[in-house]
Amino acid sequence: MDKMFDVIVVGAGNGGLAAAANTAKEGLNTLLLEKHNIPGGCATSFRRGRFEFEPSLHELCSVGTAERPNVVYKVFDDLGAKINWEYEKGHIFRSISKGENGFDVRVNAGIEGFCESLEKEVPGCKENVRALLALKPKIAAAIDYIYATKGNPNGLVMLLKHADFMRAAGHSVEEVMTALGIPEKAQNIICTYWGYLGVPTDELNCMHFLNMLYDYVVDGAAMPRHRSHELSLALIDVIQKHGGQVWYNSEVTEFLYKEDGSVCGVVANGEKLYAKEVISNVIPHNVFNMSETKYIPEQNLKLANAREFGISVATVYLGLDCTIEELGMTDYTVFISGNPNPRVQNDTRAEDGLYIVNSLNNVIPDSSEPGTCTMFFTIPVYGHDVPKDLTPQGYKKYKNDLAKKYIEDAEKVLGISIMPHIEEISVATPVTFARYLGTPEGTIYGYKLSGWDNLMARTAGEKNDYAIPGLSFCGGHYIRGDGYSCAYIMGDTIGKRVAKRLKGGA
Ligand SMILES: Cc1cc2nc3c(=O)[nH]c(=O)nc-3n(C[C@H](O)[C@H](O)[C@H](O)COP(=O)(O)OP(=O)(O)OC[C@H]3O[C@@H](n4cnc5c(N)ncnc54)[C@H](O)[C@@H]3O)c2cc1C
Repeated sequence: MDKMFDVIVVGAGNGGLAAAANTAKEGLNTLLLEKHNIPGGCATSFRRGRFEFEPSLHELCSVGTAERPNVVYKVFDDLGAKINWEYEKGHIFRSISKGENGFDVRVNAGIEGFCESLEKEVPGCKENVRALLALKPKIAAAIDYIYATKGNPNGLVMLLKHADFMRAAGHSVEEVMTALGIPEKAQNIICTYWGYLGVPTDELNCMHFLNMLYDYVVDGAAMPRHRSHELSLALIDVIQKHGGQVWYNSEVTEFLYKEDGSVCGVVANGEKLYAKEVISNVIPHNVFNMSETKYIPEQNLKLANAREFGISVATVYLGLDCTIEELGMTDYTVFISGNPNPRVQNDTRAEDGLYIVNSLNNVIPDSSEPGTCTMFFTIPVYGHDVPKDLTPQGYKKYKNDLAKKYIEDAEKVLGISIMPHIEEISVATPVTFARYLGTPEGTIYGYKLSGWDNLMARTAGEKNDYAIPGLSFCGGHYIRGDGYSCAYIMGDTIGKRVAKRLKGGA
């Protein structure tokens, strides 16, 4: 007999988990299908020897605290998902640029701390930096309004109530910073964070960047105590507690449509499963490849094809046989670049661009056994940066060379000795992410948020995005873009919308 559900969610990444938790909590008969044997997608953990590694999360944005909860805290709290949040203390990052006009600066948390850190490095810039941060609450109000109208804002309201947003929304980070009189060196330090969004700041929409920057500055960066796996398991608990089903090892291979073009189910493990609504945490490119073309509106196909895939990363995970103190690492997050300019960092990414070094023991001292510590290197690269036609041996050499290059560079720049302490090492490339997540070119950030497809354009044009009845999207590939917080917020929003629709609301 056909199996029928209220809602089927495809993919147990951050977006899918948040969506399914919401529909289950609303009492809808929910089925979450995941191709792997564990949930989370990027938000998971893996073991090598005596080390448990965080595979992806450097820092979670927009969390806040119990006293001052921000949106991600509220998403988990409202769902009843309990998380042991830990916070990066003191400064939010250290940025070292090796090039001419380079710098080595630690940037503090809090608006005052952030402005003072920059003032120390670039005297006279403080008030201009403060003016940049002051834009954020104004844009947040505008974005909330646009979401509330489902991408159909009233022009007059926008002009009268959200004038600063209207003035800045169409511009890049660098254009707005230059207009505010922020000197180049201060711009370069602030723009260090472009690495978390994968689009250089002469191209990246200012509002998008500010959203993230402000929340890191004000809330600091948060992490779950037990790697991001803890976040995923907490949401699984919510789904199951409310009667939802989670099927692992269940890869969806086909999306099913009614003759009127609406989605009515999926095929997983050769079985047809039906639902009133399907929510996809899987990128639209893959969904359309799993659908009969005749059912996909031409405009939707064109939209997917017009979008550019976002950036991926290469990563090096190290388990070391010494403590973090013995290693001499005092910072949690260090950005290291070959040149202070984000455009140059992006364009030289595969040779001498930007990379990030994280040492989790500096936030969670007992995140590895006594006498040991871990390090996590992240190098933003595109899938197409990986050399083509590598043999299995060639791929092994590519990974080894990559790890050696970045470890040696970090040793030199940070003045520490890593190599003799390596007990475990694991290297991932865009190929790894393509295989594990199933994303084209191993994108970890869905589609690139730039040019005509920037965050503002997507937000304002949501009603013109994919429009297949019975099918919703959520996750890093959708309107709000990449990152943990965006994926959770999008999953939460879509889960609530679908629940409201099925329960007879708008
Ligand atoms: C190395 C790395 C570092 C990162 N660092 C940060 C950071 O510090 N801060 C931050 O905010 N973000 C970071 N990110 C980005 C963040 O992890 C992602 O943007 C976010 O997790 C994407 O969530 P998602 O909902 O799109 O799901 P995904 O993680 O893409 O998961 C999709 C899920 O769908 C499943 N799936 C795919 N196809 C099918 C199918 N056919 N059938 C069933 N299941 C399927 C997959 O197995 C997966 O579980 C990082 C990512 C990586 C890889």
